Amino acid sequence: MKFDVEKAYKDANALLEGHFLLASGNHSNRYLQSAKVLEYPHKASLLTNALADMIREAGIEVDTVCAPAIGGILAGYELARSLEVRSIFVEKCEGGMELRRGFEIQKGEKIIICEDIITTGGSALKASQAIEALGGEVVAFASLANRGFCSRNGTDNTPKEECSLPSTVPLFALDDFKFEMYNPTDCPLCEDGSKAIKPGSKG
Ligand code: ZN
Repeated sequence: MKFDVEKAYKDANALLEGHFLLASGNHSNRYLQSAKVLEYPHKASLLTNALADMIREAGIEVDTVCAPAIGGILAGYELARSLEVRSIFVEKCEGGMELRRGFEIQKGEKIIICEDIITTGGSALKASQAIEALGGEVVAFASLANRGFCSRNGTDNTPKEECSLPSTVPLFALDDFKFEMYNPTDCPLCEDGSKAIKPGSKG
């Protein structure tokens, strides 16, 4: 049975509706606050168990889950628990991402790159490049939710040009969340007189 990820986000007050300023500078009518859906580990594991089932059903063999920090770490850690494999993360460095803290990977190690949300996949792509440079094999990308720019496994959506993930590696996500996105100069919510807020930075 399909896991109702939208309900999980709504129940955790992690799917916000209103008028939001996104990291890209665009405005939107919805915002996913994934940290909120991961607040309770026992609920987070329901999400990653469903994601792990999708990955197993597709016959993907995995040695390790690797997440881009900070956003992906909790989702990656829980997915590794669900898959009963190792969990590591990469961190931002100049021009990309790198493994630190004594984390190592073996040549040919099969690695899933896990994010909380895939928007255009930019961070996930940088993480995969760091892993491949060390000899790891990126076998899949995974995320709790997909914003609909990239095409997730099991759907026949054509990836939008903003998607930076390679088409040769599958993306597993629990669901597609399609948001309205507006250029701030042409935003109907601004025209209605409200002001966009940035949820990530709210105290
Ligand atoms: Zn606006």
